[in-house]
Amino acid sequence: MIRQAEAVVLKTINQGDTSKIATLYTREFGRLKVIAKGIRSKKSRYSGMLGITQHVHLVFYEKHNTELQLFKSSEIVKTYNTLSQDFDRLAFAQVAMEFIERAAEKSEPHPELFDLVVWILTHLDDPKTTAVKSYWYFHLRVLCELGFRPDVFHCHQCRKGLSQTESVYHQPDGAIYCITCSPTLDERFSLRLSSAVMNVLQAIDAEAWDAVEKSPLSLAERRAMWSFLWHYGKVHLEPLQRMKSLAVLEQIYRGGH
Ligand SMILES: [Zn+2]
Repeated sequence: MIRQAEAVVLKTINQGDTSKIATLYTREFGRLKVIAKGIRSKKSRYSGMLGITQHVHLVFYEKHNTELQLFKSSEIVKTYNTLSQDFDRLAFAQVAMEFIERAAEKSEPHPELFDLVVWILTHLDDPKTTAVKSYWYFHLRVLCELGFRPDVFHCHQCRKGLSQTESVYHQPDGAIYCITCSPTLDERFSLRLSSAVMNVLQAIDAEAWDAVEKSPLSLAERRAMWSFLWHYGKVHLEPLQRMKSLAVLEQIYRGGH
């Protein structure tokens, strides 16, 4: 049966001399894998299509009882040109694509997740947007969509409100406590989150992108944000522990973004 989908390319692998296997995230079918036979041949009219982060209208032959579907044709919906010319933005986009490729395991439609994939590419492609903050926003929103929403408003123990106050992320529990309740303040097991970091986390939870974009954070606070997001993601979503593009991101992050 011939099917159509709006899709973003998450990953590609070359197959044989001229073919390619692409993993895509689609609005209609969730994660999808297609083989595009002959697409790398210069004679193919789809040559140059199905590159990572490409946003396409895809037509494919659906085959049952196999994970691999057969590519028929595609048309570009949007090319993110700025993104592909900036090393940092491209690195964030690659991490975001790998995140979805690993985290969205079931091939079921999840339109809100698809919207987040388009959201991150659109924002990384806009030179006026702070790339690192748009990545944080994407990372936490995806975790929320997948059912791993952290409580960034209340202490895990006493339920006291956590706004305008320094808080502690306790790594073994994967939860946030007020300073008084935190099981430990030992830096090997806990991470201090300043009130400014908590404000950003709360703004992301409230989907208030403008507030996230405007919030000033010091270098130490940006590092704490990274540490929290990665640790929390890996604790709750085991496939993130094997992410290859993480090494690239850590290189950027150590560079002081
Ligand atoms: Zn407490």
